[in-house]
Amino acid sequence: MAISRFSRRALSVIVLGVAVPALLLAAVGVFLTLRIARAIENETIRYNTYLAQQVAEAFEQELMAHMRRGIGPAENAARMGAGLPEVVRALESEAAEFEGTHFVPLEELDGYSLLIVEALPLVYAPGAGARKDQYFAGLLLRDPDGQVIGAGGWWIDARKFLSAHLDPVVQERLPGNPRLYGGFESTRKLSVALYAPDGAEIGRVRTPVTQRTARSEPLAGPFENYSVRVSPTSSGSVVWTGRFVTIEIAFIVLMSLVILAATVFGLRYTVRQLELAQLKSGFVSNVTHELKTPIALIRLAVETLEMRRYSTPEEGERFIHAIGRETLRLSQLVDNILDFARLEAGQRVFRFESVDLVQVVREALESFRPRLEHQGFELIVEIPDQLPPVSGDPTALTHCVLNLLDNAIKYSRTRREVRVAAGTRGSFVTVSVGDKGIGISPGDQKSIFEKFVRLETGLVHDVKGAGLGLSLVDQIIRAHGGRVEVESVPGEGSTFTLVLPAAGGMVSEHMETRERTAS
Ligand code: ADP
Repeated sequence: MAISRFSRRALSVIVLGVAVPALLLAAVGVFLTLRIARAIENETIRYNTYLAQQVAEAFEQELMAHMRRGIGPAENAARMGAGLPEVVRALESEAAEFEGTHFVPLEELDGYSLLIVEALPLVYAPGAGARKDQYFAGLLLRDPDGQVIGAGGWWIDARKFLSAHLDPVVQERLPGNPRLYGGFESTRKLSVALYAPDGAEIGRVRTPVTQRTARSEPLAGPFENYSVRVSPTSSGSVVWTGRFVTIEIAFIVLMSLVILAATVFGLRYTVRQLELAQLKSGFVSNVTHELKTPIALIRLAVETLEMRRYSTPEEGERFIHAIGRETLRLSQLVDNILDFARLEAGQRVFRFESVDLVQVVREALESFRPRLEHQGFELIVEIPDQLPPVSGDPTALTHCVLNLLDNAIKYSRTRREVRVAAGTRGSFVTVSVGDKGIGISPGDQKSIFEKFVRLETGLVHDVKGAGLGLSLVDQIIRAHGGRVEVESVPGEGSTFTLVLPAAGGMVSEHMETRERTAS
């Protein structure tokens, strides 16, 4: 079909012209966003490493500052050539910060390490020189000639010193460092934690939110095997970037979905409009044909009767019948077209009243009986004497049954049997019209209810129709709060059932009396 070829082409054009570029742009957007996020993450990792080094240095400076303050009197005593007990006493007087005073004579300094902090030699004793969990930390002391006589200092508990000085180091010493790259503000968005040699956290300033960009730095000297870890807090730039990236990617994905959905809906709408336009033009030619044929037949019959061009009275009767039949066909078509036009314009007003569907079905059958008989149909009627009333427009409902009967006749081939049944189903009243005609494939059972749709299979080419009947039936029954069901097997026949709500809700069982008419 031309439409489906068009829709395939339109689909590829729209997909290639809109959806693919939109998706490509979205992918580029996501890619760039991730690249920017990655760059910020790398920068943060570098800064965290740098800051961890700064913290390590700050701890050494803190230790130096304390030792400098404490060593003054001992240094003076040594320079003035005082004896060892006096030097030790001088050390003791300033030992508040440390554990125990200690003086190491020059000859014993061999196993001790030297650490240079801010150009000052700091002596400490790892390994053999250490007391349990404690290090000796001290400064070199010189005699009046400037000769090193030994080292004076204290035993320190590194864990205690670190945990006691963590806060001042991070909150004061570090931000106070004028050379600190990034400045005070940056350090406030970071969490700094200290770890003992066994990996246990011994203290921290601020809570970290992610460890992805966290970096550790080992401490040196008396704090050997301890480490400092710097990670971002919830106000860190990398954390904010992460949030923005998530929002942005969600936004881009949502936008792509909207563009895709708009493309698909736009395409479907366009195709539907084109299909409708094509169906409409088919409808006009169908209707013209539908109107012309009965008119031509009526004219022919009238002329024949006027000029008495028939030989027997029976032949004359046949022409009169033909006029009746074609007039019925014409009026049904005109009714359909008018009804359709009113429904489309929203001007169709239903006059609701209590309707007896038995009556409606019988009336419809009466007007169809001659046509059924004439065309050799067996009519099987299974309707009860009484049915619960439905609230509806009797003319519209009769119109529905007439359309179903018309289709049953039109789309039957050699097996000419029409079965009309009515009954109840829960709180619904049903009316069904079945035939043993050409049937409808499952794939088409929905589309036949759309306006102007005529299936291009089986008998349809030979059978007249405007493609309006079922669309009208569907719209009328929906307006009555019901639905139309179709059961059909191609080649076996179809049954259309109108399901309408009973006026009073639940219905009682009704005796079903069957009536069978064979023509
Ligand atoms: P029309 O009969 O004027 O073409 P309808 O809306 O009544 O329009 O029906 C739409 C299409 O549904 C028909 O063209 C036909 O292909 C199919 N159809 C309707 N009723 C039957 C039936 N009883 N058996 C087989 N096909 C049917």
